[in-house]
Amino acid sequence: MLLLCGCASTKQPTSVYICTGLKGDAFHRTPQCKGLSDCDGELGEITIPDAMEIGLHPCKICFPKDSIIKFEKAYPGVMN
Ligand SMILES: [Zn+2]
Repeated sequence: MLLLCGCASTKQPTSVYICTGLKGDAFHRTPQCKGLSDCDGELGEITIPDAMEIGLHPCKICFPKDSIIKFEKAYPGVMN
């Protein structure tokens, strides 16, 4: 496989958005996500590795399916 673009590796942590309330079991790409509209706590900002570490999974509404597959590969065993 040829790597034509240096942007292929995205190592820098990206900030995602979480709900700190009891319903918060996912992290979101945007604070405007529909999945955050019924948040019963505060809106928080966190990096993806940190979010995975505390057991959150990528939101299926605001993350495209291929990026969810990427997360599953990057963090095996976290997703179930
Ligand atoms: Zn979302």
